[in-house]
Amino acid sequence: MNSNLTGDSPNFVTHLECGLKGDHYPAGVVHGLSQAGRPLLVRYDLGKIAQAVSKEEIASRPQDLWRYREFLPVKKKENIVSLGEVVTPVLRLDKVQKGKGPLFVKDEGRLPTGSFKARGLCMAVSMAKELGIKRVAMPTNGNAGAACAAYASRAGIEAFIFCPDDTPQVNVREIAMQGGKTWLVNGLITDCGKIVGEGKEKHGWFDFSTLKEPYRIEGKKTMGLELAEQFHWHLPDVILYPTGGGTGLIGMWKAFQELKSIGWISKMPRMVVVQAAGCAPIVKAWEEGKEHAELWQGAKTAAWGIRVPAAVGDFLMLCAVRESQGFATTVTDEELLAAREECAKKEGFLLCPESAATLAAYWQELLTGRIRPEESVALFNCAFGAKYDLPAVTAQLDRGQALNLA
Ligand SMILES: *Cc1c(COP(=O)(O)O)cnc(C)c1O
Repeated sequence: MNSNLTGDSPNFVTHLECGLKGDHYPAGVVHGLSQAGRPLLVRYDLGKIAQAVSKEEIASRPQDLWRYREFLPVKKKENIVSLGEVVTPVLRLDKVQKGKGPLFVKDEGRLPTGSFKARGLCMAVSMAKELGIKRVAMPTNGNAGAACAAYASRAGIEAFIFCPDDTPQVNVREIAMQGGKTWLVNGLITDCGKIVGEGKEKHGWFDFSTLKEPYRIEGKKTMGLELAEQFHWHLPDVILYPTGGGTGLIGMWKAFQELKSIGWISKMPRMVVVQAAGCAPIVKAWEEGKEHAELWQGAKTAAWGIRVPAAVGDFLMLCAVRESQGFATTVTDEELLAAREECAKKEGFLLCPESAATLAAYWQELLTGRIRPEESVALFNCAFGAKYDLPAVTAQLDRGQALNLA
């Protein structure tokens, strides 16, 4: 980390491609959505990547996200905007495991700004810097905005962040502290997204909404690359993902496809979408066999990060679920809050509410048989657990009583 900070990063990007129609777009210039209004996917010369780097070479590199640089879009090292994106640990959860196969959690709460949004935003901001973008705007339920503000400030890029007005205060304040121009909106993330869409011409904002620029997926892809490497290139049987905009699900599936095509992995995991019963557009579309999801009316859940009534990458999520022979399911807020408490008390591991939904779903689906008892299962703790409101503690003690405590 000194003489290596400038110069070319190995770059194997060939073009960008519409995730729906497959038409091509040139790399190296600013893009939002495709002409069809759908997410663009970055394509690489995978054969050349496989020639340029080996698993052994990667294993010898520093334990951070940039160890996978051949699979990433940044061209010049000086454009990398980093806050120290560590490889996150994978832990066993033996006490809340209810099947015979092992249960794992990858703890993404260790990343900068306390959530896995750092993966996506460090890549999106690095690419914005590389492409000369000076002002970005995004709608957020909290964690994406926090990561955006932090990386943008570090890069000297202005960030305008729009949050629903009931977003947890800790998130809103974090965004503002980290230099984001922060606005509270009396509506949901979709309403915030509309403000960004309508204001971008006038204010010269580049639209950083989930999947409306091509590079957040590439950052999130590293979650899948890391998982594969940590499991010695033999992935767990089932991955449960708390699904909002779907960047992580789509990014991981893209990682697995790229690794498979160069022969580094063989068996693909089953991808499972988990949503809250109070906001489950992707689950509804999956159950109805549709390719796209409808806007979910009256979205409501305590798991803020997955309160996303509509997602522009809906078809990519549904495709990953179908191709991987996974499924989509919901749990109630009561179930996810109970799972969160049980895991914290028994394992000493405080999940964020979104990820607690996946633990509750794991228990539920072992009972329905959609997860088989012998299958190994991976969850992701998407954000640091104490970043959220926690139940208040009321026990108060007179100093004189202290010695009589059991
Ligand atoms: C953003 C977020 C999610 C949802 O992730 P997507 O990739 O957008 O579906 C889940 N949990 C937490 C804590 C989040 O911040």
